[in-house]
Amino acid sequence: MRRVSILGATGSIGQNTIDLIARAAGEYDVVALTGAGNIAQLAQDAIALRADIAVTAHDHLLDDLRDALQGSGIDAGAGKAAIIEAASRPADWIMSAIVGAAGLAPGLAALEQGTTLALANKESLVCAGRLVLETAGRHGTKILPVDSEHSAIYQALIGEDLKAVERIIITASGGAFRDWPVDKLCEATLDQASNHPNWDMGQRITIDSASMFNKAMEVIETHEFFDVSPEQIEVLVHPQSMIHALVGFNDGALMAHVGPPDMRHAIGFALHHPERRQLPVERLDLAAIGSLEFRAPNEGRWPALRLARETMQAGGMMGAVFNAAKETALDGFIAGRINFPQMAEVVEDVLARIAASDGHIAATMTLDNVLQIDHLARQAAQDAIHKRAG
Ligand code: NDP
Ligand code: MG
Repeated sequence: MRRVSILGATGSIGQNTIDLIARAAGEYDVVALTGAGNIAQLAQDAIALRADIAVTAHDHLLDDLRDALQGSGIDAGAGKAAIIEAASRPADWIMSAIVGAAGLAPGLAALEQGTTLALANKESLVCAGRLVLETAGRHGTKILPVDSEHSAIYQALIGEDLKAVERIIITASGGAFRDWPVDKLCEATLDQASNHPNWDMGQRITIDSASMFNKAMEVIETHEFFDVSPEQIEVLVHPQSMIHALVGFNDGALMAHVGPPDMRHAIGFALHHPERRQLPVERLDLAAIGSLEFRAPNEGRWPALRLARETMQAGGMMGAVFNAAKETALDGFIAGRINFPQMAEVVEDVLARIAASDGHIAATMTLDNVLQIDHLARQAAQDAIHKRAG
């Protein structure tokens, strides 16, 4: 039996992971499931999968979790330290699917096990890519990317020599506002931004898809994970979300990964790697689809892409600044304090402010230093939001 844990089990990626595991429950020994606010789901899944422990990120929900697990014999935990302890419990395969920089410390704890980490939490690569990869290297842990574009790149690179790669193209659907007039974006509502045309995902990544911050993060993720230069990474708008990424080689060949927009493919690939197993995803009928479209991204509509390039150019720990500013700006939009285009303005303000003033960026990348710069960037983003919100 393979021992598996899921960090962020109650979220969109977590639930898709559970769907795959529950279909072959006899093959898995579920060690730990973690969540935050959704105690009912966490307890229900922990009981159904007979997990050893269920942990919520929120200290004040410990009693609720205990009540929900009563009589099951499953341990309950709460708080940041309990999540890290759960991530440290021996397992053969761990899914890192907490949303945001909150996933960094648990992900690092999981990496210290020397087994396999399926990495959906792109924020940990954006804010501390080098630290994540060094930790994996030191402990001999295999990281399998779960972001659909990065799983696609990984698959296109199997058996290839990275030195023969000329470029990597990641596709973007364009999100909810792909065809909106740019001058109308300031009227975009939270509901409109939370509706993705192709993918069914958590609310935060859905809004990040509409603003292109998700793709901006993925460009940085590609740079960090595959160790290719920013100049080698291109973004291509592809409204149907069928081709997830393409790898271009020095002989002019492009290897594309094509599949339906269903995260269970990338999750299943990581779960069964190095085997391929049958997965419950739709088989594409290309003749019925007929045609696929591609467009160059318009950086005027999506300033996030330019900001990602500036972040990579600055190097050091600027990724942590970018991520923290983006998370705070997103909170500001969700709370109705700033409008949709102001999210990018806030991130731009923070990048300018911290780049100009701070020796923190060049400091050694440790978890403490990343968390410190994350904190500074969140404060700077709050100031930038306050300036706009009045
Ligand atoms: P969701 O918002 O759906 O789920 C997030 C998970 O993290 C939930 O289990 C949530 O708990 C938990 N969580 C929230 N805050 C904290 C915290 N402070 N500490 C610990 N746990 C917390 O997100 P997604 O599943 O959409 O995304 C998860 C990660 O995967 C993100 O990094 C995202 O970028 C990445 N990703 C997602 C894709 C998708 O299809 N959804 C595609 C590619 C990448 P609760 O719900 O109980 O509050
Ligand atoms: Mg993606």
